[in-house]
Amino acid sequence: MTRIPFLILGAGPTGLGAARRLQEIGHSDWLLLESAPHAGGLSSSFVDEAGFTWDIGGHVQFSHYDYFDRAMIEFLGADGWLRHQRESWVWMRDRFIPYPFQNNIRRLPPADLDRCLQGLVEITRHPRPRPADFGQWIDANFGPGIAEVFLRPYNFKVWAYPPEKLNAVWVGERVAVTDLGRVLQNLVHARDDLSWGPNNTFQFPLRGGTGAIWRACAARLPADRLRLGTKIVRIDPARREVHTERGEVFAYDRLISTLPLRELIRLTGRHEFDAVAGEGLLYSSSNIFGLGLRGQPRAELRTKCWMYFPEDNCPFYRVTVFSNYSPQNVPDPSLHWSLMAEVSESPDKPVDHTRLLDQVIDGAIATGLIASRDELVSTWSYRAAYGYPTPGLHRDRALAEILPAFEQQDIYSRGRFGAWKYEVSNQDHSFMQGVEVVERLLHGREEITLRAPNHANSRRHPWPFERWS
Ligand SMILES: Cc1cc2nc3c(=O)[nH]c(=O)nc-3n(C[C@H](O)[C@H](O)[C@H](O)COP(=O)(O)OP(=O)(O)OC[C@H]3O[C@@H](n4cnc5c(N)ncnc54)[C@H](O)[C@@H]3O)c2cc1C
Repeated sequence: MTRIPFLILGAGPTGLGAARRLQEIGHSDWLLLESAPHAGGLSSSFVDEAGFTWDIGGHVQFSHYDYFDRAMIEFLGADGWLRHQRESWVWMRDRFIPYPFQNNIRRLPPADLDRCLQGLVEITRHPRPRPADFGQWIDANFGPGIAEVFLRPYNFKVWAYPPEKLNAVWVGERVAVTDLGRVLQNLVHARDDLSWGPNNTFQFPLRGGTGAIWRACAARLPADRLRLGTKIVRIDPARREVHTERGEVFAYDRLISTLPLRELIRLTGRHEFDAVAGEGLLYSSSNIFGLGLRGQPRAELRTKCWMYFPEDNCPFYRVTVFSNYSPQNVPDPSLHWSLMAEVSESPDKPVDHTRLLDQVIDGAIATGLIASRDELVSTWSYRAAYGYPTPGLHRDRALAEILPAFEQQDIYSRGRFGAWKYEVSNQDHSFMQGVEVVERLLHGREEITLRAPNHANSRRHPWPFERWS
């Protein structure tokens, strides 16, 4: 049996990034195996029977990398994209509050506003010690008022774990922290403050949803190097062999795995990691519901991108007005519009799958997104068993033990669930993790995204990386 120098498992953005980089620099000695009949992984899109296009949750791109941006233009063309102003809102107390919440608390009813302000004053007078977990981080940065009114209920709905089970290091640029002066100015001048932070515009494919990007990426690779519909059922690290469901065996020199790390442990039979992975590698599942609707959204929804829902009058934590991302996401934009809702699930937050779609529709009515069930043209649902890699308290200890042990056997686990680092698990990060692991293996270069997530997220990166020169 001939050994494949680079065997790649999984054709999501990470595996495709690795394959593309190998091909680009003249190494055509790779093979990519993917269980699904299509490329894209969690960044795939689907068209339902009524002709509505759906992502696995609304995917937007905020790229940190020149290389990634160039690849996006190469895949879909410069005119294959729509650019949007980010407009995100919180729906609570029967009203919309612009995000970031803390800059716009003036919109709250007086009792809630009072609680939030008291909490901000309290943390200004009595700064809290360095937080040991995400719950303490919330309290220290926002005070007990904003924590109780919004951040704690909202974060439990998103993560499906209490914030005390999450670490405080993943946050980085992802959560806007409080600027008391700005909060007070907005209050005094009765001003809405929508334009926080680094990510205030984003791009989205004109046609075919997010999945179009990765289908186009796969189509540019040599077809005989990409094996779809090929599920891995066992990996033998000692013999360096991968076994498929159909009984094929592939021998490799180096294995780049983008499968969930917990699955890699199971498939390789490295049960010595079961305990540390069980404790450290928490995750939640994502239940995605598409609501294809007749008519047009009401005026308030026409420019909104997505909305957060912290209250318990609906099961979802976030809803995207997906027809606003591209008119091509609906069969006929003059007749239709669409919403996509996300519901998290974990052992700490189970859901009843038999009733969830009904609960989502009821929630959409209860929160005023739609007026009645009569507006529905179609519904679509998808469950990603591995949805969010939870940045748990013991995650980094687990990764520090497991990833190097696999690398000693020439198995490189990368990507959203391969490396299990939520803070570098979007499409741009994942694709670059694939590119960077190839650069490390061939040229000994540092894997910046994996090793230094805060640096990766702190700026735009030229290509080649500034740290490589
Ligand atoms: C709800 C949700 C919302 C998101 N929103 C955004 C967003 O707004 N912006 C953004 O940039 N990113 C977003 N993401 C993240 C994005 O989906 C990921 O960054 C990206 O898909 C990760 O790529 P990956 O290749 O690491 O993993 P995946 O996409 O998970 O790909 C792994 C691949 O491995 C394959 N595989 C698994 N097991 C086997 C096996 N046994 N044999 C063979 N193949 C196997 C899978 O089929 C899959 O194709 C979101 C994700 C979710 C779940």
